Amino acid sequence: MTPSWPPTPADVARLLEALALAEERSPHYRARFAAAGFRVAELRDYDAVRARVPRTAKADLVAAQRAHPPFGDFLAAFPSELAAVHVSPGPLYIPRLADEPGGTPVLREAIGAMGVRRGEVAHVTLSYHVMPGGLRLHRAFEEYGCVVLNGGTGASALQLQVARDLGATVYAGTPSFLGRLADQARELGWYPRRDLHYRLGFSTAEALPQVLRAELEGAFGLELFDHCGEALIGPVAGECRLHAGMHLHARDLFCEFLDLATGEPVEPGGTGELVATHLGRRALPLVRYAPGDVFRLLPGACPCGDHSLRVAFVGQVGAIRKIKGVLVHPAQVHRVTSEFPELGRFQIVVEHPPGARYDHAVLRAGTVRPPGDPAALARALAERLRATVLIQMDVELVPETEIPEGAAPPRFAEAMVDRRGA
Ligand SMILES: [Zn+2]
Repeated sequence: MTPSWPPTPADVARLLEALALAEERSPHYRARFAAAGFRVAELRDYDAVRARVPRTAKADLVAAQRAHPPFGDFLAAFPSELAAVHVSPGPLYIPRLADEPGGTPVLREAIGAMGVRRGEVAHVTLSYHVMPGGLRLHRAFEEYGCVVLNGGTGASALQLQVARDLGATVYAGTPSFLGRLADQARELGWYPRRDLHYRLGFSTAEALPQVLRAELEGAFGLELFDHCGEALIGPVAGECRLHAGMHLHARDLFCEFLDLATGEPVEPGGTGELVATHLGRRALPLVRYAPGDVFRLLPGACPCGDHSLRVAFVGQVGAIRKIKGVLVHPAQVHRVTSEFPELGRFQIVVEHPPGARYDHAVLRAGTVRPPGDPAALARALAERLRATVLIQMDVELVPETEIPEGAAPPRFAEAMVDRRGA
């Protein structure tokens, strides 16, 4: 069963079982819980877990593995029990037990939700090299009953030939590589819609903005499904055929969504940071692991009949700011600016003028070429921002060279200029 949010008593019982297992088997968590002054047996409900169990950050794992290579003091298994080791950027070493599903059952379900048929040829283009993404998806498509091409990354001309010759109907990988395949196909003199046979696409590991989705769907005549996950915790959520948000479908994860300021649970309709705990036995259990991902929880039930919570990815926690009471991430603004071909990098400047009641936000939008009608462009941009990011911003058009390169996607490190309290 997929744990619900807010959690049911049965979900909390599974969470407490996982915490007890981590305390019993992992020296790291045993020491950490003791230092925080509790034993898992004393925790009675979810509120007690939230109040007493500390979060785990990626930095904790990195530090532990540097101090005690290769796995740090997190390991909750004997080395002889390990079946595989995956590498995650850092590098971080993530060992796996033979019976640890590593997200595959969940991916199989996500593949079914897209309408993939058994026997279809699936072309997987995530990396198979060192990182676990490609292998994980490959196993899932194979177990689902597809014929799987291990494409990997790069070698796009060869990949196109293989996909065409073998009649691949399902694409799985990043949207940017699918875009690369479209360009490469045209360079070969092919017409992607006619010469390739993709009808469904599993899009993951990158954001899928509306404009890019429409462009790729148009180029190939396929239907894309957005999915999200994280390197250490695996797949988290994916779209159903109604494409109205991503259903939370990680059965082996207890997912919390917590308010960025207060740490309190967020209700559907709100926006919160994901904190995830592995359920079941793991070689390297993660307890209250916070990858820094912020999601909006969509209210109401999906008409598809799947009652699991639906989420929309907002962005990474570091670049997010609350402006006029609304959480804003530069990635959301970028989705809007990328609808306008004249626009490049941008900065959001937030001020709280002395004596004013509200914050004042200005979008400094860099133009890559002089717009035909600057006033109309600024007006259209402000309207789209109001409609999609739900915030009123003044728009100021400047040449892109005036915007620091550090403001560029995907990191947006200098995209937010917060002058409040300055
Ligand atoms: Zn649905």
